[in-house]
Amino acid sequence: MRHLLVVLALICGLARAADPAVLLEPAAVWTGDSAPHSGWAVLVEGKRITAVGPAASLRVPANARRIALPGKTLIPGLMDLHSHVLLHPYNEVLWDDQVLKEPIEYRSMLAVRHAALTLQSGFTTLRDLGTEGAEYADVSIKRAIDEGIIPGPRLLIATKAIVATHTYGPAPRNYRHDHAFPQGAQEVTGVDEAVKAVREQAAHGADWIKFYADYRFGPNGTARPTLSQEEMNAIVQAAHQSGRKVAAHAATDDAIRMAVLAGVDTIEHGYGASEATFRLMAERKTVYVPTLTAPEATSEYFQKYQRGGPPSASMQQAARAFQLARKLGVTIACGSDVGVFAHGTSARELIWMVKLGMSPLEALRSATVVAAQVIDKSAELGAIQNGLLADLVAVEGDPTRDIGAVQQVRFVMKNGEVVRHD
Ligand SMILES: [Zn+2]
Repeated sequence: MRHLLVVLALICGLARAADPAVLLEPAAVWTGDSAPHSGWAVLVEGKRITAVGPAASLRVPANARRIALPGKTLIPGLMDLHSHVLLHPYNEVLWDDQVLKEPIEYRSMLAVRHAALTLQSGFTTLRDLGTEGAEYADVSIKRAIDEGIIPGPRLLIATKAIVATHTYGPAPRNYRHDHAFPQGAQEVTGVDEAVKAVREQAAHGADWIKFYADYRFGPNGTARPTLSQEEMNAIVQAAHQSGRKVAAHAATDDAIRMAVLAGVDTIEHGYGASEATFRLMAERKTVYVPTLTAPEATSEYFQKYQRGGPPSASMQQAARAFQLARKLGVTIACGSDVGVFAHGTSARELIWMVKLGMSPLEALRSATVVAAQVIDKSAELGAIQNGLLADLVAVEGDPTRDIGAVQQVRFVMKNGEVVRHD
């Protein structure tokens, strides 16, 4: 079987790992810091970058394969720190129906396609924040990618995620009370159950622990904090003790503050954060993952928003939070909530960040250098430097001038393997 796969990969022109060296010759190289360097080249040997600099200055092995990328800028592989490979857009199938009606096997097969589309779009790393009812399916998807069985980005996974009992979805109020339905995350009540869930998820393969600090379970479906402060504290403590970082879904100011005080590493969404709460995040170095594309997508699906038209209330709230966080010096990492919208289009998040005030350079850094810091992978990923893993993407033009270039991907390399070359 393994031989068959290798043969197939060779036929597809994808398996180049055996090549001794590859020299990439783009128009310019953006290493992850300031302006792109024109006339630079990058040498890749095996999985790693072994030289970066002016093309004439590199010592290139005589048998190196040369790949010319004229007119293109080479950038580090992009990262989306908030994805759901096991979800697909809600205008195709509502979230409740995905969780209740789609078998996990079927969702896993969709995820295989989602992973391939993501990698083709230049996103070489995802932090995938919860399977949304698909149990531990992400563990196997990650394994299949790592073993080279299926193409996809490297994944950091959160498995089931953690919610307070009866606060998440499918919301019990919408269904028969005499039946129990699958839930979108693991339910806990009390410190003991919260700690146990962390340990279970960690043991099954979670790289990150994710919990929902609030959700729409208040009167009339309003968002309210869900877990208690003690439960949040216990989750963070157990996760950190196990060497795992914690991401908190939180949209209301109260829940964001509680999660930050509990010591979470990243706040997801954060749309309702007050100035005082963002100041607290800046002070405590809690990272903000704004997911700006999600409200655009749900406004399109459910509120008749048309792209380019006047923003909906939820989009305005997201824009306010993003601009306030940026003004107050909160670290912002790129995370889109892709899955809510189509996989392979995570670059929409970078477009939004620039539309709302970031420079293209700042947005690119949030999806490369900064993202790598957040996931503790700066020694391996997020920049173009000697010794780092060769996750490299070539885009048309100069993305530090026109961020739209990130939607014009022409070449993708992951771990030193060419996985796309138009
Ligand atoms: Zn999400």
